[in-house]
Amino acid sequence: MYRFAPVTELHDQCLRAMTDDGGFRVMTVRTTQTVRDVLQTQNVKGETARWLADLVTGTLLVRETMSPANRVQGLLHGIARSGVLVADCHPDGGSRGLVQRRGDGDPLVGGGAVLEMMRTLHRGVHKGMVKVPDGATLSTAFMAYMQESEQVATVMAMTTLFDGDRVRASGGYLVQLLPELSEPMLAIMTERLKEFAPIEALLRDESTTPHSLMAELLYGMPFTQLADSPLQFQCRCDQVRIMASLATLPRDEVQAMVDDAKPLEITCDYCRRDYVIEPEQLRGLLAPS
Ligand SMILES: [Zn+2]
Repeated sequence: MYRFAPVTELHDQCLRAMTDDGGFRVMTVRTTQTVRDVLQTQNVKGETARWLADLVTGTLLVRETMSPANRVQGLLHGIARSGVLVADCHPDGGSRGLVQRRGDGDPLVGGGAVLEMMRTLHRGVHKGMVKVPDGATLSTAFMAYMQESEQVATVMAMTTLFDGDRVRASGGYLVQLLPELSEPMLAIMTERLKEFAPIEALLRDESTTPHSLMAELLYGMPFTQLADSPLQFQCRCDQVRIMASLATLPRDEVQAMVDDAKPLEITCDYCRRDYVIEPEQLRGLLAPS
């Protein structure tokens, strides 16, 4: 299931930099291959694909800036309990996605949907929620989340370009204003972001890379690149985790499956990998520990 990109293709990456005056933190990401793999494993198209793609890129940006050492999940709750889109991003740069449907169709997303961010910290899980305004993009909802929940003034932009159903390019950037910011630099950045080309136009240009985006965002400002980390699609499932989840089932349910005497087939919702659990393995769950 897991595929490496052909060598001719640029790999996904996240660049992180800070201006030398300590005023701005900037991240730029290419997520083309990660998004392709997420959309392919979830078999989604059209508007759902577009929102899930941006959810993955936005969640990656939040993880890289607020919680580089932790797992961050972005959930987009559909309108009228129609389902949830999930992005699950981990510190090793691996991400996966999920479409949870509550009815026949895809979750209804757009204005009125709710963006929920879950950051796994040492002390537990930090959660924050914002409503997607009518007619707004997911970038707008992410910026509102950063302002309201994290209290950091942030400009974010992400998008995915499609050729039909195929992802042509996916990526984005994030600019954060830090407390050390001087007034003149704030004025310069505000003007620059106002005049900055829309992210769609930037990604349409095939010469755009995370490096060129970074250089353009911070043009004329001395900055230091702090990190360049690879990103990829990656599921976290394996036989041990599947057995561990089965071990949490009530004993009589496991007994019923053992009595059934047939191999149990389980498919991972994130990556569609199939697992076959033999009755003998299930019997092991019933053994007194
Ligand atoms: Zn999996």
